[in-house]
Amino acid sequence: MSDKYLQEELDRLEASGNYRRLVPAEHFGCEVETGGRRMLNLSSNDYLGLASDLELRREFLDSLHPEDFRMGSSSSRSLSGEFPVCGLVERKLAQMFGKEAALVFNSGYHMNLGILPAIAGKDTLIVADKLVHASIIDGIRLSGASFSRFRHNNMEHLGNILEREHAGYRQIIIVVESVYSMDGDMADLKSICGFKRRYGNVSVYVDEAHAFGVYGPSGTGLAAALGCAADIDYLCGTFGKALGSVGGFVACSGVVREFLINRMRPFIYSTALPPLNWMWTGFLLEKLPDMDSRREHLACISAMLRKAVSDAGYPMPSDSHIVPVLIGDTVETVRKAAALRAKGFFALPVRPPTVPEGSSRLRFSLTADMTEDAVSSLIKALEDEM
Ligand code: PMP
Repeated sequence: MSDKYLQEELDRLEASGNYRRLVPAEHFGCEVETGGRRMLNLSSNDYLGLASDLELRREFLDSLHPEDFRMGSSSSRSLSGEFPVCGLVERKLAQMFGKEAALVFNSGYHMNLGILPAIAGKDTLIVADKLVHASIIDGIRLSGASFSRFRHNNMEHLGNILEREHAGYRQIIIVVESVYSMDGDMADLKSICGFKRRYGNVSVYVDEAHAFGVYGPSGTGLAAALGCAADIDYLCGTFGKALGSVGGFVACSGVVREFLINRMRPFIYSTALPPLNWMWTGFLLEKLPDMDSRREHLACISAMLRKAVSDAGYPMPSDSHIVPVLIGDTVETVRKAAALRAKGFFALPVRPPTVPEGSSRLRFSLTADMTEDAVSSLIKALEDEM
């Protein structure tokens, strides 16, 4: 019976164009090969091209000893003692962000799922941007806190909510991303930090998943680029995108770190990342300051693509390396994505529930190892297809 019920649901997804399939693929730098066809990979979050850089991998492997090559950590971090590399990486992160402390999690999903329920209770109001990532929504739901959402990037709406509600709660936490994963636009972090200064019980939580590595001095993110990292209480990021590794982190005060170690369930109850992953993360963090030329090239090809999509008459919310082409209709979006694949461009269609109903899109995420010529060919294919 249960299979029959589930199959009916799957059939409904198929009919509405929202069925997801896993596509086996071989990866070659910024290209991907699937179904016998090599394509430019426009769906990867390897924004600096670090994950696919063979030279970096060779250098890292050459620096290792057999005893470093530990692929399992065998317990959660609080259970059987820390590997020394954990402290090294967390101290490095704290220093990069000018914070007292940092704490690393197994993934960005763990980070958002775990921090909010740990720090927010019934006396808390969480005020989140309408477009925050699913992992943040799940964290908010688990927290049991009161919850309000402001219109995307609308500071007036956020200000009205804070003015109306600030006296009714012990604490209010504003939750935003710095670069939004589906529109590629950026939060007004300066205004958001201004609200924190106006109301004594407001703190700020920023997810820099799509900005860490790409923006700011030495790739420290958008908050650092705007000079407001010091005002952000929970400065979060992930290693699985521009850094080319795996994991999530928060840079924060020493008290927040201690509190999370004691209260954050995904931190307490899940086996830690293997030491080898921590070492790779540490190796790449040391490399981040030397990546300016990659950041500059990424900015240049991103501006090219944004201009072309905008010139073709599509709304262009993006200010970043994430460039959406807003089609609207899901079936049409799926068709256009297939047509682009036939021309050698791998961009999966993004559909509800990942994005709001009626805003299906092609989402191009550019990476620093793509050439200008490759992006020009994409632009040409888009012009033919649109
Ligand atoms: N935050 C945001 C804004 C994201 O886009 C994502 C993943 N796409 C995550 C968190 C989750 O990070 P991870 O993939 O490391 O679980």
